[in-house]
Amino acid sequence: MRAHNFGAGPCTLPVDVLEEAQAEFVDFAGSGMSLIELSHRSPEYDRVHRRTLELTRSVSGAPDDFSILFIQGGATLQFGMIPMNLLGAGEQAGYVVSGSWGKAAFADGRVVADGYAAWDGEPDGYRRMPRPDEVRQEDNTRYLHVTSNETIGGIRMTDYPVGARLVADMSSDYLSRPIEWDRFDLVYGGVQKNLAPSGMAVVFVRESGLGDPVHPLPKYLDYRWHIESDSLGNTPPMFPIYLMGKVLERVAAAGGLAAVEAEAAERARRVYAAIDGSNGFYTNPVAVPDRSHMNVVFTLPDADRERAFLDGAADRNMVGLKGHRSVGGCRASLYAALPMESVDALVDYMGEFRARF
Ligand code: PMP
Repeated sequence: MRAHNFGAGPCTLPVDVLEEAQAEFVDFAGSGMSLIELSHRSPEYDRVHRRTLELTRSVSGAPDDFSILFIQGGATLQFGMIPMNLLGAGEQAGYVVSGSWGKAAFADGRVVADGYAAWDGEPDGYRRMPRPDEVRQEDNTRYLHVTSNETIGGIRMTDYPVGARLVADMSSDYLSRPIEWDRFDLVYGGVQKNLAPSGMAVVFVRESGLGDPVHPLPKYLDYRWHIESDSLGNTPPMFPIYLMGKVLERVAAAGGLAAVEAEAAERARRVYAAIDGSNGFYTNPVAVPDRSHMNVVFTLPDADRERAFLDGAADRNMVGLKGHRSVGGCRASLYAALPMESVDALVDYMGEFRARF
């Protein structure tokens, strides 16, 4: 039996994708071996690689002047790679510190280059995103770094800052809503939430946005090397690339990002309705317009009931509902492959549990 998987990542993937991968696993495309045993220079793998690249472009709508890169190291490696590649001498990056992930990007970025906090939500406990006019810009700002969805705080950005080029970590709502490409020079994210198993980041980078690196870069850290080789400079993360292709085929067939967005809004609406209709039994601290459609955080009146809630959820085959270890509480992650039936199971359980206490 499949679990109702509310994990924040890695997380649930479409079951038909898993079954298709299973069916072709041992003998991929008549090659006599599995995809993960094939050479990454083989024609069989090359077709998979090119197809996933094409689907990533068509589903995302990324314009032709963006290169699409598949890079190992997750989103975390990008925290450092981006400033290495985009900042020239005397330039700096401004960071919107909207939560734990914005803060992590800021901390790592400053290891390699100059950066400043353009807005900091920490004193208020990361309960909202800034309004565009609250984001401060210093001289020589090459770009502003934003996090489209803060996975731990459960907040999302809808009103992006204006005036500077943007770089966005979209890890936790990746390809779950259309992207306004003209605002961005770079968009990145780990794929292990809406798109694929863990093991890589997808980076969209506008080639004209690449700077003259202040220091020479080892090749793996240099976007140009990945661009020139179509992400085949060394052995790529073949399995995530293969599975992401299958996920994106489904997204395309189901109506693209607008359809994913509408479904995500509906999942989130149902869970927030359960919270808001609970007379304060469940509470969500986030400013309503900034509530995440991917990660719904909530607390119960006390630790005992929270524990009982999580235990009862586990008995009902609902997993991954414990909040991040840094903030506690509960969190329901509602990524793109989560069946509506799982959402309804959670909502029913929330109502039942509340009635018991
Ligand atoms: N940014 C965000 C918004 C995330 O949610 C995560 C992981 N949960 C990361 C960055 C780090 O990603 P990775 O594990 O791929 O390095």
